[in-house]
Amino acid sequence: MTDIFTPIEPRFDRDNSGLMEKIVALCKRRGFIYPGSELYGGLANTYDYGPTGTELLRNIKNLWWSYFVQQRDDIVGLDASLISHHRIWEASGHVAGFADAMIDCKHCKSRFRADHLIEDFLEDANNQVRIKHWAEKLIVGGETKLTNEIVTKVTEDKKVEGLTTEQLAEIIFLLDITCPNCGEVDWTPVRKFNQLFPVELGLVQGDNNVAYLRGETAQGMFVNFKNVVDSTRVRLPFGIAQLGKSFRNEITPGNSIFRTLEFEQAEIEYFFDHKKTKWEELFLEWKNSMFGFVTEKLGIKEENLRWRPHTDEERSFYSKRTEDLEYRFPFGFKELWGLAYRTNYDLAQHQTNSQKDLSIVDPQTGEKILPHVIEPAVGINRLMLMVLCDAYYEDEKRTVLKLHPKLAPYKVAVFPLLANKEELVGKARDIYKNLKESFMTAWDDRGNIGKRYMAQDEIGTPWCVTVDFQTLEDSTVTVRDRDTAEQTRLPIDELQMYFNSRLMK
Ligand code: ATP
Repeated sequence: MTDIFTPIEPRFDRDNSGLMEKIVALCKRRGFIYPGSELYGGLANTYDYGPTGTELLRNIKNLWWSYFVQQRDDIVGLDASLISHHRIWEASGHVAGFADAMIDCKHCKSRFRADHLIEDFLEDANNQVRIKHWAEKLIVGGETKLTNEIVTKVTEDKKVEGLTTEQLAEIIFLLDITCPNCGEVDWTPVRKFNQLFPVELGLVQGDNNVAYLRGETAQGMFVNFKNVVDSTRVRLPFGIAQLGKSFRNEITPGNSIFRTLEFEQAEIEYFFDHKKTKWEELFLEWKNSMFGFVTEKLGIKEENLRWRPHTDEERSFYSKRTEDLEYRFPFGFKELWGLAYRTNYDLAQHQTNSQKDLSIVDPQTGEKILPHVIEPAVGINRLMLMVLCDAYYEDEKRTVLKLHPKLAPYKVAVFPLLANKEELVGKARDIYKNLKESFMTAWDDRGNIGKRYMAQDEIGTPWCVTVDFQTLEDSTVTVRDRDTAEQTRLPIDELQMYFNSRLMK
């Protein structure tokens, strides 16, 4: 029997049959991602990152920080507490409204997010005739809670965001959607489920001792807005950036690290005076920065990306515009990175609830301003899954992760041609120690060279250095390129410069 602690593997794999399973298997085999609490049967929607995964995650985080904080002079960093006062989350609206609609299969006890259950059904090629037939026969008005606009959105956009629990339940019922796990139609009603994780502080139980694990990093920026203004020399427009764990009680299963209970979130709150700065221009600048980061820094193929503006129903009431940058995962186009113009809703909420003045004074006019904000928000783990999917390559001979060299867990691997020849091993060890000071460098002397190349290809190491008998005579080594499999002979003392120049590209 399946319960909430049993991870359910991906249900659909429409575009690329079996690709997701292959990536998940490679990630386990090569130390990128392990299922969380595996030793005790697994804990759904949690994952541990192995040695290669840890490096990849760290590389993505460092690139993000360098691109959005280090290289800009208008953005500063913050590292707020993961556990925070319940009043922050009441003021932000999360306690009342941070809820997903869920539905359980009474037959096999699997739990699903109702919107995802429907959207997966809508996108499945096998269901298209049934959906068309349903839309043609449906008569709106009377008993039904559905309108013509909703039916169009459901059938054409294949989206149900912003619909009520009653509307979701009705669609599941009318489309006769079966449980993806057991194939039965035996659903509970659709219910709301708050995603915040409460934590109880101290020894005495009671409402006042409840705090929350943060559900997003954004609130840290809003509640520290005044602290940052008072303790630094920032001037509008400016941003506060934060990169760290967020926690959400997600009920949706599958698709590896796409949606997990805890994840590394990277958010920026970019504050501006809406009377002086046109939000439309700023919004476009942010779209370009996000797209540039993904394509140029992470090396993602443009054809796998698209922008999707939120419709009026799905956009939060305070947001003037929200767009998602979506990536074509093996299980379909899904949100990668959200961009929202949130007006000054959040600062206003905290100002009202804390009864503290959060406005700043315009140095030229003396006027008080409660700045507006544009928020680009992304999950680093989701970026990592995208990077793995985009880099995965296989042909009849080999499987390769064609990662951007800056992202690769190891930049170089060093091998002695034979493990039992002391002179070769000694020389290779010297080169390895030397390179290790500058780059993440791997060592391998097991098996034959072919097997070693295979292992390095699968973790995306761009270059392999082999020390052979010629090395002992002329101090040159072979450098094998991951993508072309070509081998070049290079002097040992040029290696450092060679790898540096390739990494700078
Ligand atoms: P979704 O619609 O996918 O639940 P969201 O719109 O609630 O996401 P935001 O609150 O805008 O997401 O969070 C910003 C980003 O954080 C998302 O675009 C995604 O990259 C990432 N993210 C959100 N929830 C999760 C999660 N549970 N696991 C991993 N990454 C997440």
